[in-house]
Amino acid sequence: MKILIVEDEAKIGEYLRQGLAEAGFVVDLARSGLDGQHLAMTGSYDLLILDVMLPDIDGWRILQSLREAGNKVPILFLTARDSVDDRVKGLELGADDYLVKPFAFAELLARVRTLLRRGTVPVMETMIQVADLELDLMRRRVSRAGRRIPLTAKEFALLELLLRHRDEVLPRSLIASQVWDMNFDSDTNVIDVAIRRLRAKIDDDFEHKLIHTVRGMGYMLDSSGEA
Ligand code: CA
Repeated sequence: MKILIVEDEAKIGEYLRQGLAEAGFVVDLARSGLDGQHLAMTGSYDLLILDVMLPDIDGWRILQSLREAGNKVPILFLTARDSVDDRVKGLELGADDYLVKPFAFAELLARVRTLLRRGTVPVMETMIQVADLELDLMRRRVSRAGRRIPLTAKEFALLELLLRHRDEVLPRSLIASQVWDMNFDSDTNVIDVAIRRLRAKIDDDFEHKLIHTVRGMGYMLDSSGEA
């Protein structure tokens, strides 16, 4: 998945580029409206993250020119403005979503993933099943091969996150922010320990291992059925 960020504030742009790259995306960063517009028109991106206030042409102009050219790439606007008028204007012009600065990176990542998933039918899930592992979201119960596995609340949240993002590599920083509400730079040892405990409960007694370590990147729950 390839994402273009158009953001003139170097610090924010770099923060986003790094975070999204760590989350497994291929990221281009443009620091001006015209550069961004050129890249958006000529490159092939799955998603655009556009700042509204740019030094040359603003995010709205870029959006307009793309839509006029028939380009339907999903666009998430980032803006310091939060007035209703601005939001309405952006959405009327064809923006797909809006995020007001300052924002938490986890929030941005969640929006990005949602936009990228649009088109697949959203279903209210009460049960998640992968291989012989079942997660009952209503009763907060987990079982594997029909056997109940007691988990702590944190372990359940961790497993739910892994299952919801099955077959995606989840960086420790994302897991930290989603399950522990810790920030980006926190010590992530706690995650490794929790993963080890979770594995002991859901993987150790089974031949087919579901949770995998992706070295230097994070963790992944593999639904492919390969050992
Ligand atoms: Ca700006």
